[in-house]
Amino acid sequence: MADGSDSFDLVILGGGNGGYSAAFRAVKLGLSVAMVERDKVGGTCLHRGCIPTKALLHAADLVDEIKSAGEFGIIAQEPQVDWGKVLDFKESVVGRMYKGLSGLVKRAKVELVEGEGRLTDARTVTVATSDGERALTATKAIVVATARIRAIFRSSLPTATGFTTRTTP
Ligand SMILES: Cc1cc2nc3c(=O)[nH]c(=O)nc-3n(C[C@H](O)[C@H](O)[C@H](O)COP(=O)(O)OP(=O)(O)OC[C@H]3O[C@@H](n4cnc5c(N)ncnc54)[C@H](O)[C@@H]3O)c2cc1C
Repeated sequence: MADGSDSFDLVILGGGNGGYSAAFRAVKLGLSVAMVERDKVGGTCLHRGCIPTKALLHAADLVDEIKSAGEFGIIAQEPQVDWGKVLDFKESVVGRMYKGLSGLVKRAKVELVEGEGRLTDARTVTVATSDGERALTATKAIVVATARIRAIFRSSLPTATGFTTRTTP
């Protein structure tokens, strides 16, 4: 917190790759940062995208390798897939990385605000938390890293001016 109130140099909406990378960089530059996340920090990549798919692909690669082991002179039985254990493996990888990332966020002193955030004016993100509404003021900038930026602007600030947006194709 910048001054004991809900005021921060930077308020980041979304705690996925984009959000937490911006948060860590901003902290390194000496800024106070609040990051708003409605689900789990780590976003799509950690919980539903890159990481779980790579864990499943690793298991699939193992099956392929075992199946082709004979070509290398290794005698192996036809592999049996225990799908429940494959999913447990995937969950354990995601869980370990989630724990690590949550620790990094804490250690970096990024204020993680859990709840659905919306832009209520050019300097304020209002968050619906489990305890009610919390208004976070950004003294320098708001970073929208929700992956669906147009939805945020359309639904919460239809007549906004003075914003710079950058989206990837
Ligand atoms: C199956 C799959 C596999 C992928 N594999 C790869 C890969 O191998 N390599 C790669 O580079 N990329 C991969 N990607 C893409 C990668 O996941 C995305 O590029 C990355 O997650 C984008 O990060 P982001 O921070 O922009 O968005 P997200 O990770 O989606 O984060 C946005 C966050 O904002 C939060 N949020 C949204 N709205 C609000 C709100 N109003 N209030 C509070 N919080 C909000 C969401 O809960 C979410 O956590 C994959 C994607 C998928 C679906």
